[in-house]
Amino acid sequence: MDAAHAAFEPVSTTVTVGVVISIVVPCHDEVGNLQALYTRVREVMAQQAEAWEMVCVNDGSRDQTLAQLLALRRADERVVVIDLSRNFGKEAALTAGLEHARGQAIIPLDADLQDPPELIPELLAKWREGYDVVNAVRIARDGEGWLKRITSHMFYRVINRLSHVDIPPDTGDFRLITRPVLEALMALPERRRFMKGLFAWVGFRTVAIPYRRSPRHAGRSKWNYWKLWNFALEGITSFSIAPLQLASYLGFAVSLFAFAYAAWVVMQTLLHGNPIKGYPSLMVTLLFLGGVQLMALGVIGEYLGRLYEESKQRPVYLVRRTWPDRDGGETPSVWPT
Ligand code: UDP
Ligand code: MG
Repeated sequence: MDAAHAAFEPVSTTVTVGVVISIVVPCHDEVGNLQALYTRVREVMAQQAEAWEMVCVNDGSRDQTLAQLLALRRADERVVVIDLSRNFGKEAALTAGLEHARGQAIIPLDADLQDPPELIPELLAKWREGYDVVNAVRIARDGEGWLKRITSHMFYRVINRLSHVDIPPDTGDFRLITRPVLEALMALPERRRFMKGLFAWVGFRTVAIPYRRSPRHAGRSKWNYWKLWNFALEGITSFSIAPLQLASYLGFAVSLFAFAYAAWVVMQTLLHGNPIKGYPSLMVTLLFLGGVQLMALGVIGEYLGRLYEESKQRPVYLVRRTWPDRDGGETPSVWPT
């Protein structure tokens, strides 16, 4: 019998109708953080007049995250739980949470408390001033190494040079968006969702507020450099076709060089006859051209692969179950996980 069974209690009667503020939390193996997260969110939201909900998406966790979420829900119905059928990755989990949010103001939040819930009142204040998007911009990243900082900085430099949307640097997913912005986001059809870019792409009246990014509360980050590299590739290929153009420019430059070199070889042969030398230069040219061609093919492959994935039109995520049910009901007998 699991934890969710053992701690069964009747459903509490906290009213969640007319939700105004939705806090959306993607969770993957976050069992050590959820209680602290919930407590801090509740304390912060107690100061606000509006009704709120916390939409938690369990993204295929292998630990007791789901049981913990359901325990939180048993104590407070404002916790909404979406259980995905497997791990779909953060971007998909966030999309799932956004799609289930019912509020007018929606705030994605990391489960590991790296985004301090105490900043929420400031986000809400800007929202009340009439902004549609309030970005929380990191001014410090406590607990992150210099390598991660440098690579992150480089990523924003590159992507903003290559693409036509301005993706604000040091802005994670922690922000506030209004319902019209959410609806605009949800209307974007792409399957592979590079959220930072999509948030920037939709536009709307935007303002930024600074904050200090804290170290993780508990557990380990699921990111490593290989994932980060793929994330960067995702961002660049989703928002720029410059690498495709690069391939053709490079090809052009190399052909030009090869043409000049060929002219030089012909001249040499005409002037000095044809001593059978030139094996090294032949090899160098051959390998160089081969390399350039493979690189260009690789670039095309990256885009072709994405085109292929988009064309399959698979859903971004699959929901196993939600609490409350789709029709809003929730019979105690279906509580257990
Ligand atoms: N996350 C998720 N699915 C994943 C990986 C991460 O839902 O496959 C969630 C995770 O639980 C956390 C957030 O995404 O709430 C950010 O993850 P993490 O802290 O590992 O990333 P970092 O802060 O290092 O960028
Ligand atoms: Mg984190």
